[in-house]
Amino acid sequence: MPTNLREALVDEIKDIYNAEKQIVKALPKMAKGAASEELREAFESHLEETENQVSRLERVFELLDEKPRGKHCAGMAGILEEGSETLQEDAEDALMDAMLIAGAQRVEHYEITAYGTAIAWAEALELTEIAEILGESLAEEKAADEKLSALAESGINEAATAGESEDDMEEEAETDSRSTRTSEPSEATARSASGSSRSSNGSKSATRQRGGRR
Ligand code: FE
Ligand code: FE
Ligand code: ZN
Repeated sequence: MPTNLREALVDEIKDIYNAEKQIVKALPKMAKGAASEELREAFESHLEETENQVSRLERVFELLDEKPRGKHCAGMAGILEEGSETLQEDAEDALMDAMLIAGAQRVEHYEITAYGTAIAWAEALELTEIAEILGESLAEEKAADEKLSALAESGINEAATAGESEDDMEEEAETDSRSTRTSEPSEATARSASGSSRSSNGSKSATRQRGGRR
């Protein structure tokens, strides 16, 4: 058990270090599972950032006069375990992407919290350089989170509401689309990435039928 804030900070850095390494292993699988090219590229570019975040933490260990050693982060392991369950689902492309984004945002939020705490503690301890280094990673995590929200809301969530592919959504954006899914109470719920209970999601044939129903 840490007996002072400095020791607590070292523990927190060990936790984040281990979490980042878990993420380095998980991101290539998430990139492979992504259907949309933009989402795949977002995962790939965040992988590069994450590798750099690992290096930053090694610099922080050095500044703290500590060996770079991680301590198993059970929180991140749990979040990534849920993500790997998602990857095993047999979901329509857009729905899979919506669910992958949901999992990835849980990862980012966990990291944002961890870096936020570590920075506040470093500042309290007047470890200014450490706070600055951690701040660079925190900014990247926030940007990654915002990018994921933007991707979800730029069409993936809407495409996922009816089991449509994202290409169908693009076609629809060009024509004036009235909803043919009269049983749907509201399309507004499409803004949530988690609308997986919608009855139309399970049907792969919904995509095929759409053209004929217009
Ligand atoms: Fe990270
Ligand atoms: Fe943790
Ligand atoms: Zn991240």
